[in-house]
Amino acid sequence: MIFGSSVEGRPLTVTRRGDLDGVRVLVIGCIHGNEADGMAIVEQLTRIDPPEGVDLWLVPTINPDGTAAGIRHNASGVDLNRNFPVNWAPLAEPGDWQYGGPAAASEPEAAATVALGELVQPSLVLWYHQDLYRISPSRGLSGQVRERYAELTGLPLIEVTGGTYTGTASQWSRTVTTDGGVGFTIELGPTLTEDEVARHAQAVVTVAAELLSG
Ligand SMILES: [Zn+2]
Repeated sequence: MIFGSSVEGRPLTVTRRGDLDGVRVLVIGCIHGNEADGMAIVEQLTRIDPPEGVDLWLVPTINPDGTAAGIRHNASGVDLNRNFPVNWAPLAEPGDWQYGGPAAASEPEAAATVALGELVQPSLVLWYHQDLYRISPSRGLSGQVRERYAELTGLPLIEVTGGTYTGTASQWSRTVTTDGGVGFTIELGPTLTEDEVARHAQAVVTVAAELLSG
């Protein structure tokens, strides 16, 4: 299904797979166009059979213009991961690596993703980035899910730091999730082997089945 389009008119697509009554999991393979290895994990998730009780909503990229150009930003020079309408604030200037755009959800890619999130109302949202090779730790159910995902994939649980985190996609995604608000970023390494792709895809369905379903 096409749920929106980019600044340059490329379609934003989502594929639904698995148990229609299951726990809804929204997976976004890429938001920063030059951090695209997570798209292979989403692709792998379209090929495996999800376990009973898991309803996958799979988005290869919400930044197809950035992916095509191999750049972080969208085609308007906005960092989509600072453009979401939760805790948004004006940040930096056009051209800056963290430029948050002229207004909250000003970018068609962010606005379409917000509408998709409100439609799906997932229990879990996962965002892939590169290449800090870590997952930030947390508490409660979110902490448990992160810990299990890290254990299954070998990623260390270390805080992601170094940016100004206004209007980020993961903060926004925690506001559309049901019960518990589990939405977080997975920082892959600089490269991803086929084995790692398979392990991450399996980790997505395993954490959903073990910790969120039923
Ligand atoms: Zn990133």
